[in-house]
Amino acid sequence: MQTRTIDGNAIARELRAGILTRAATLTAGGVQPGLAVIRVGSHPASSVYVRNKIAACGEAGIHSRDIHLSETADEAALLDQIRALNDDASIHGILVQLPLPRGFSPERVLEAVSPLKDVDGFHPMNAGLLAVGHPRFVPCTPLGIMKLLEHEGVNPEGRHAVVVGRSNIVGKPIALLLLQKGATVTICNSRTPDLRSITRQAEILVVAAGKPKLITGAMLSPGAIVIDVGINRLADGKLAGDVDFSSVLGTAARVTPVPGGVGPMTIAMLLENTVASAERALASGRTRT
Ligand code: NDP
Repeated sequence: MQTRTIDGNAIARELRAGILTRAATLTAGGVQPGLAVIRVGSHPASSVYVRNKIAACGEAGIHSRDIHLSETADEAALLDQIRALNDDASIHGILVQLPLPRGFSPERVLEAVSPLKDVDGFHPMNAGLLAVGHPRFVPCTPLGIMKLLEHEGVNPEGRHAVVVGRSNIVGKPIALLLLQKGATVTICNSRTPDLRSITRQAEILVVAAGKPKLITGAMLSPGAIVIDVGINRLADGKLAGDVDFSSVLGTAARVTPVPGGVGPMTIAMLLENTVASAERALASGRTRT
């Protein structure tokens, strides 16, 4: 079987062009979408992620605020900052870059973000809305995966989808989204015995385990659509997904590469959620003009 590589960069570029148009329409109407990104301390990977997000906002016509609290800031200072942004009508999305330094409660911090500006979709209220089938903000990576599948013309209805990983940011929400589309969903975790017996049943396989090359071609059924979420830095400095890319060629029908698959979609969906938030704010009069 010829395996086709899904080009996440190209699909994200296409989606970003549409987002730029929507942002321009909002701006012309007096409401430029705005995103605030808050980070605390100096986690090296976080600075790169934040820089990329800020640059992506600029290209999409979204104004951004990069708020950097020092290593010595405490949780109260962070919560004050979040509250000020919750009340700031020019900001439609608030993102707190994780991980937070030791001593901070991520749960308390994420719950402080207004659920109406929670563009990461991590607030329990937004997680609950997704679980009951009325999503408002959906976490960016799972939302990006659904857009990839849609773009590829893959309809999950009636298919067996297997998700490897049960995190709140990827595994659980992607399982819920696939379920809502009518897939039969199996969710695996680190305690799942005989993973291969389950992944071999997958027509759609989403892998978000953070374990390099966990999935090989021998663990697939022929024709599977494989979405690799993993981003792992190997000892030689190279990036690898959770799927052994070369070994699935010839067995999978389609596969996302790492890098260049799910990653670019995640950033595009952050922009999507910010613009959608500004559109909702405008429609409900929750914004300055
Ligand atoms: P977590 O560490 O929070 O979750 C990993 C999940 O995988 C856990 O549920 C764990 O099970 C499960 N798991 C680990 N090993 C196995 C195994 N051998 N068999 C079955 N399940 C296993 O990670 P995240 O969900 O946050 O991220 C997953 C990966 O995706 C990471 O590599 C991360 O860097 C990447 N990522 C990529 C993004 C992108 O934009 N492309 C965005 C977000 C994440 P258990 O719960 O039992 O421990």
